Amino acid sequence: MPIAEAPRLIGNEQVSFVPISYPDPAPGQILLRVRANAVCGSDREIFAQGSDTIAGHEVAGEVAAVGPGATVPIGARGVAFLMAYCGRCRNCQRGATNVCLDKSGDLGFNRDGGLGPFALIDERVFFPVDDDIPFPLATMLLDVMGTSGHAMDRASLVRPDIESLYVAGAGPVGIGVLVMARIRFGPDVPIRVSDVSPWRLEFAESLGARPVHADRVDSIPLVDVAIDASGRTSAREAAVARLAKGGALICVGHGQDLRLDVSPDLIATERAVLGSEYFPFADLAHNLTLLREHRDTIARVITHTYDVAEVGEAFRTFLSGQSGKVVVTQA
Ligand SMILES: [Zn+2]
Ligand SMILES: [Zn+2]
Repeated sequence: MPIAEAPRLIGNEQVSFVPISYPDPAPGQILLRVRANAVCGSDREIFAQGSDTIAGHEVAGEVAAVGPGATVPIGARGVAFLMAYCGRCRNCQRGATNVCLDKSGDLGFNRDGGLGPFALIDERVFFPVDDDIPFPLATMLLDVMGTSGHAMDRASLVRPDIESLYVAGAGPVGIGVLVMARIRFGPDVPIRVSDVSPWRLEFAESLGARPVHADRVDSIPLVDVAIDASGRTSAREAAVARLAKGGALICVGHGQDLRLDVSPDLIATERAVLGSEYFPFADLAHNLTLLREHRDTIARVITHTYDVAEVGEAFRTFLSGQSGKVVVTQA
């Protein structure tokens, strides 16, 4: 039962290190020693509002202790899937663990997460990764590769023949979509990416996007698929307007609402609007293969790493709009 200091986000963009005691793992649980945690757009609100839970849900580490009957060995390295899915419900049974009907928690939201020195997780949400992948890079398996790859899987349900793509928002999710789309579709499918930040547009361009200022989205040719990674009403509505007939908008960034005029927007044009939430646990295996094959490209998504002692600085960098993925590490 280790007791250790963990950074609590107390609101108003302030961090306070507090002692936390971690319980011994129960049957079916493991205690992960956190080595890296990537900062996410969804942590932004916690940094502003504060939380009693230790934040962080893009976690890589090594197994420090296991509950009775565990099959994962102590010392195993890997990443933690955010959602404590049940494994039994209809959705879990068909592999859709990201929409579990009976999940018991979300790491970093209502269970102490990866900014702390340890994370107590269910053994079934641990995904092992060999030591050829450093811990910060391993966190890319989660929101960057997993969430983005799933958004494209959702798009493929509507358009299996994607020939053009538009991504609204060049924050970490949008950059993840861009990189995963480049890997999936190759160099010939045009991928336009919009943002208001010149830094982010330049970063996206360096990763193979055609950059578009958010004010100029109406100049984009009609596309098969648009992916909203901005969470903004205006961006979603502009994206719907750029969909060709039979196209699909995938909303992957949480945020504001979207108004649709059903007859012209959906029926006459047979467009679809789909949500995409995190990703199924089973996707991790394929994404690990992709990470090994495209390691240098994916590594470029990480622009900054900070030791956990500098977690406030890590968040300020992330919120500056001049970063890709920011990773907090622990020795
Ligand atoms: Zn995240
Ligand atoms: Zn379930």
